[in-house]
Amino acid sequence: MKVPFLDLKAQYNSIKNEVNPAIQNILDNTSFILGKSVAEFENNFAKALEVKHCSGVSSGTDGNHLVLWALGIKPGDEVIIPDDTFIATAWGATLCGATPVFVDCHPQSYNLDPAKIEKAITKKTKAIVAVNLYGQPADLDPINEIGKKHNLIVVEDCAQSHLAEYKHRKTGGLARAASFSFYPGKNLGAYGEGGAVTTNDDELGAKFKMMREHGSSQKYNHMMYGHNYRMEGIQGAVLNVKLKYLNGWTNERRRAAKKYNECLKDVEQIILPVEMEYAKHVYHLFVIQVKSTDKNDRSAGRNKLQKFLEDNGISTGLHYPIPLHVQPCFSSLGYKKGDFPVTEELAERGLSLPIFPELTDNQIEYVSEKMKEFFK
Ligand SMILES: *Cc1c(COP(=O)(O)O)cnc(C)c1O
Repeated sequence: MKVPFLDLKAQYNSIKNEVNPAIQNILDNTSFILGKSVAEFENNFAKALEVKHCSGVSSGTDGNHLVLWALGIKPGDEVIIPDDTFIATAWGATLCGATPVFVDCHPQSYNLDPAKIEKAITKKTKAIVAVNLYGQPADLDPINEIGKKHNLIVVEDCAQSHLAEYKHRKTGGLARAASFSFYPGKNLGAYGEGGAVTTNDDELGAKFKMMREHGSSQKYNHMMYGHNYRMEGIQGAVLNVKLKYLNGWTNERRRAAKKYNECLKDVEQIILPVEMEYAKHVYHLFVIQVKSTDKNDRSAGRNKLQKFLEDNGISTGLHYPIPLHVQPCFSSLGYKKGDFPVTEELAERGLSLPIFPELTDNQIEYVSEKMKEFFK
């Protein structure tokens, strides 16, 4: 049996009859940039998230930048970023000329550990970016409280958390503003690059719309600095079709996660992901940890399991094998190995199992059987 890590073709085939005419319609109207399809998607996505303002942008990375830029983050400022995330979270800060300051993740949620944030705050700290990683919301109540206490802006990176909930409220509306990614492999994926920024703040919502379009709302009249961060019409059309199915697809991801948990609950060599009591997890990724037996190489067991699964037709992933604080591009920041033990352990022992809405229970049983076979 073959189990891919992700199957974008299966999903495309299931909506082909709807998505092809939607794309053809954009071609017929030549409304390639923004336009009606993007405006409709923005309204629909805002409704789905129960947030007031949504602006479609060119990618999640651009959204990460736009959010911090519009909120006034500038050179000399420090921005707190979880050490365990995709690098684009940090680009939001660096593109503003600010310095990312990393904080270790919580051992169960794998998100920013609220207990470790205050130690990282200095006179230069201006913002905290809470990433809702792997599909699980960060613990936003204590994070917002720390923000309030120290007068810091709190924003969310929701690139992996479409429709995830924190205490029954959707991510994207839990802090001052948020950015989403519609990279094709995300829970809601475009057919190209795409992203969105959301907020409940009217003034900020208007600013996002201007800044993504060269700082103007009227052509050639530039009220503020900006950039070309516009969403394409075709992406708006595709996302509008796909948004209708997102709730169902999210349920399927949760069904798959439940099935994995049932099949693997007695495998004592691994640690399964934990859905925190405050969270509705949307399982963008299903990340397990392989306990180590080799003291000199904590990743040995994980790497052998990955190879064994690959040899049996099962594709897996690593999220993320190198923590941000030891990335070569950040070497000038002065961090060293050992600074963030929880993230480092996860980097060495974490393994992402295949998960996507179309993944069948049979495939999950096969993956689980092969894992048990490996550990025997
Ligand atoms: C994917 C991702 C991004 C970047 O999104 P793009 O649309 O690929 O630019 C940012 N942050 C996180 C956590 C991501 O997973």
